[in-house]
Amino acid sequence: MYLCTTVAALRCYLRLWQIEQRPIEPEVGLVPTMGALHSGHLALIERARQQNDFVIVSIFVNPLQFGPTEDFQKYPRQIEQDRQLCQKAGVDLIFAPTAIELGLVTATESATTAVFPPQSMTSVLCGRSRIGHFQGVATIVTKLLNLIQPTRAYFGQKDAQQLAIIRRVVADLNIPVEIVSFPTVRESSGLAKSSRNQYLTAEEKEQASVLYRSLRQAELAFQGGERSSARLIAVTKLELATVQAIEPEYIELVDPTTLMPLQQIEEVGLLALAARLGTTRLIDNIILRNRQPIVAIDGPAGAGKSTVARQVAQALKLLYLDTGAMYRAVTWLVLESGISIEDEPAIAEIVSKCDIELGMGDEPQAPIRVWINGQEVTQAIRSLEITSHVSAIAAQTPVRQELVKQQQRWGEKGGIVIEGRDIGTHVFPDAELKIFLTASVQERARRRQQDLKNRGEADLSLEQMQQNLSERDWKDSNRNIAPLRKAPDAIEIQTDGLSIAEVTDRIITLYREKVEGQSSTLAN
Ligand code: AMP
Repeated sequence: MYLCTTVAALRCYLRLWQIEQRPIEPEVGLVPTMGALHSGHLALIERARQQNDFVIVSIFVNPLQFGPTEDFQKYPRQIEQDRQLCQKAGVDLIFAPTAIELGLVTATESATTAVFPPQSMTSVLCGRSRIGHFQGVATIVTKLLNLIQPTRAYFGQKDAQQLAIIRRVVADLNIPVEIVSFPTVRESSGLAKSSRNQYLTAEEKEQASVLYRSLRQAELAFQGGERSSARLIAVTKLELATVQAIEPEYIELVDPTTLMPLQQIEEVGLLALAARLGTTRLIDNIILRNRQPIVAIDGPAGAGKSTVARQVAQALKLLYLDTGAMYRAVTWLVLESGISIEDEPAIAEIVSKCDIELGMGDEPQAPIRVWINGQEVTQAIRSLEITSHVSAIAAQTPVRQELVKQQQRWGEKGGIVIEGRDIGTHVFPDAELKIFLTASVQERARRRQQDLKNRGEADLSLEQMQQNLSERDWKDSNRNIAPLRKAPDAIEIQTDGLSIAEVTDRIITLYREKVEGQSSTLAN
């Protein structure tokens, strides 16, 4: 692991490393921090490691985001301990510049030190008392994104306003990066992990746990059907008031994307609060979402994912989000429009404007119905011509990015079963149930051969089939686009010797236990 403190060293290191990787274009994950790393930061780093080839952690206590009366001087700085934690966590590079190095202060003249996100986002919640804070954050994050040009940058849901503002800045300034959020990591008491918790005494830590308890009370009310903002806020306030030492600064319910206040929750709301405890200012929040569960099934080729996913969806009355059908629909549109399948920019253009609809078939076994731009293509996308072109189209980055975006839009409502290679790690890392289906190469080769025989197609020898699958596994795990990855919280099911029905039953039982909270005896 390298530790760079200058921009020159960072640039040099990145350039040399990228040259070494050619012709592969490696994916880089950036985790921006102010140091004093704790398990919240480490969780972000772990997610970044799962999704990228190279992970950079920046450590910079950003003077622009501290007000004159805030704790800039006393903010914990412990670079040696951070370095050891990063090393253990498998970070590839730490970037820890000084303010001068980052060009925030120059000897002779002032620098460009403000990116101004929309005032409607910076003047609410924490922005009311922390004047200039979010401009400071936006400026420094923009600088880091420009310097490092990562594929993805990771931010904690704990700082929900920061996350919403960064997403907005990245969209408004067309910065080519994917912003990935990560749920808040908490102590067992519920207290959100924070570098500022170091300021708290043991007693204060205990008192501070009321923040999350009060949010949980609102969540319970929400789960019981309460949707009114005023009443959810009142529930939170009531619980917060049980600890006298806590002085609430604000409790607000807003839209998590725009940060506009909500009167009531339709689909989703961000319930956020800030409070003082002695001289320490603490924040916390939860997302209240009217969402059905998501089941993500990943695994290598030939593990039976699509058949199982379809049957699980049917049994649980969820929608099988057939991503293959989406790629087929786009392929149909490309061929129909007369665009060459090599013309990536033209394909990117039509894909970014297309509208795909999926619906359940009329009969239980019928394929998913598919419409693209209002035209039904359920049958048309199963033609041989589409089959022979779909991989080439699906391998194009803009196609994949657009379709993942569409899949995630579906995910906002939930109620879906979806299968692939990186659904649990990338497309829906917050899925309620993640399954990783595997089978030995021998078993998968045997199944493939049986399938081909059933369809009356020319078959390969078992050895040849095994070799093909091993090669495919290697490629799928190492490809640039959507590589095969198992989420750490996925449940692995080894399917050797199990029938499709047995695998499906196992997943349904897990769903009943984990998602619906029923015991396995009830499920059976
Ligand atoms: P900071 O060092 O406080 O600026 O935080 C760096 C990143 O870590 C930000 O994106 C934070 O939102 C994130 N982070 C901090 N605390 C937590 C936590 N308890 N859980 C998840 N992410 C966190």
